Amino acid sequence: MAGVVVPDVDGLARACAALRAGELVAFPTETVYGLGADARRADAVARVFAAKGRPADNPLIVHLADAGQVGSVVSRWTPLARSLAATFWPGPLTIVVDAADTLPSVTTGGLSTVAVRVPDHPVAEALLRAVDLPVAAPSANRSGRPSPTEARHVADDLGDAVAVVVDGGPCPVGVESTVVDARGPRPVVLREGSITREDLGVVGETADPDALRASPGTRYRHYAPRCRVALVAPGEGPLVAKQSIEAGERVALVSCDAAPAEVVTATRFADAADLARHLYAALRAAEQAGADVVVVESVPEVGVGRAVMDRLRRAAG
Ligand code: AMP
Ligand code: MG
Repeated sequence: MAGVVVPDVDGLARACAALRAGELVAFPTETVYGLGADARRADAVARVFAAKGRPADNPLIVHLADAGQVGSVVSRWTPLARSLAATFWPGPLTIVVDAADTLPSVTTGGLSTVAVRVPDHPVAEALLRAVDLPVAAPSANRSGRPSPTEARHVADDLGDAVAVVVDGGPCPVGVESTVVDARGPRPVVLREGSITREDLGVVGETADPDALRASPGTRYRHYAPRCRVALVAPGEGPLVAKQSIEAGERVALVSCDAAPAEVVTATRFADAADLARHLYAALRAAEQAGADVVVVESVPEVGVGRAVMDRLRRAAG
């Protein structure tokens, strides 16, 4: 099994040693747990793709301790990138710009661009500072599965493939970063996240199909547990759950309201941000409880609700 460590001096030293040896280290960020490797080493990054079963054309996000390190991975840090970084870093905003020639193409999924981010999490920051390397890190789940928001989710999915898992507790945001293309004069949102279009000042634009082509990850099935996901209207969760139970199904419920006693597991949320925090753990709990179906109530598509609904639609297939 992977060595699970706490983020003390010894734990971080083990994680740094593994990264420097070209091995994989899972670590918490404010969004989800990342599966990290030295972004400049093709052999190390290839292990990330193998461990996840990730398609080779789905590029990784390179994590840095601070914006001062972008020079090692990008070739053109645009005025827009600079201003976005100054406003939103550290934080859940991933910025896509032209990649440095020295970055292995396995890291960028064969693209000429690279995605970079400075996470806002004390453990991620301590690790990135201590290791002093650009760390390529997609979410630390098997490809297609719900992202991990707790250390045990990583161990459940990846087991031995990861050398060290740094356990920093549950992730405070719970959905992946917002991805923006910052090569031009205005940000183009490639993936929704907790930093919203309103925050970025691109209100009212719908996702541009060219932009979606430019963000390869959005093509693949994602976030899916090993049971059906039924997305229902707000407030309808308990009723739909009861109907499915009467039809003989084992039902998990994710709802604002209290669950009927017969569900196999229930997660209650207060609002979209609360659902974001608990969604992936709830999907994993549903499959672990042997549910046939997990019934999840929708949230309004404003703020982080847009990212939550994007993930839920993909999980529901
Ligand atoms: P993950 O960390 O697993 O959420 O995956 C990272 C996601 O970031 C990918 O699936 C892409 O959608 C996006 N991404 C990474 N690099 C690029 C890039 N160079 N251009 C556009 N999107 C990117
Ligand atoms: Mg992912």
